[in-house]
Amino acid sequence: MADFLFLSRFRVVISEKTNKRLIGKGVEKVVAETCFPIKVAHGHLLDLIDKGVDTIFLPSVVSMPLSHPSLDRSFVCPYVQSFPYAVRSALDFKSYGVTVLTPVIKFADDPKVVEKELVKMGRKLGKSADEVREAIRKAQNRPGQFRSLPDTAGAKKRSKTSNPGTSHGCHQSPLQRLRPGVNLGLPQKLRDLGVTAIPMDMLPLDEVDLVDQWQDMYWKYGQKIYSAAQLVRNDPRLHAIYITNFACGPIPSFSTSSRKSFATSRTWSSRWMNTAPT
Ligand code: SF4
Repeated sequence: MADFLFLSRFRVVISEKTNKRLIGKGVEKVVAETCFPIKVAHGHLLDLIDKGVDTIFLPSVVSMPLSHPSLDRSFVCPYVQSFPYAVRSALDFKSYGVTVLTPVIKFADDPKVVEKELVKMGRKLGKSADEVREAIRKAQNRPGQFRSLPDTAGAKKRSKTSNPGTSHGCHQSPLQRLRPGVNLGLPQKLRDLGVTAIPMDMLPLDEVDLVDQWQDMYWKYGQKIYSAAQLVRNDPRLHAIYITNFACGPIPSFSTSSRKSFATSRTWSSRWMNTAPT
């Protein structure tokens, strides 16, 4: 989506890296008890407002692309889907003079539906339908490049670790993986210990067929976690680290069944961690 905005020739401003100040601002504003990443998201919106942006792109992402033919649903967490609406109870965007654009994006549906939503949003910003379609087309080519990078890098990392027990599969969402302020620098700490930390998305998750056991799993990250579990279980070089977020609903409750899925994995329990905000 960021590519789409850049390619639509908007001047795009990105919030700063997650840090204690930004986290504190988000925590102060939040009006309902939510998980840590949602609190952090409040802080990022406040940072954008402080930076003087006039429009914030805050899509309601309902589903993600289906990664395997055996799957027919791939929803994101309800907190994420509803965040663009819920956050309005905490932040009065009108009083800040900020317009918030919230297209409803269902990546698992027909791409034409996504295109229609973005064309509608583009019109509000003075872009023609053709300009928006062109930006979508170019942006769609870029994720392919992005996806192939982790796949290649992940394969390289795995191939480097020929001895069983020297590599770790690290279960993380992109938020946990990309933001040291959220993951408490755990990947770096592992590297400092001489351990190769491989984020979950760098494993070939799409190659795993979940149809036998987990076809009913409709949560995108549940699908990813189960796929990673199978890969870790079958690769003696990999060990699992399961990182959850403070006050997350699905991930910890999901952990019991995924623990079973890792049952024959080698060092599960000793590497079970929770990340908390402070
Ligand atoms: S999956 Fe958990 S951490 Fe992520 S948004 Fe949902 S409740 Fe929050």
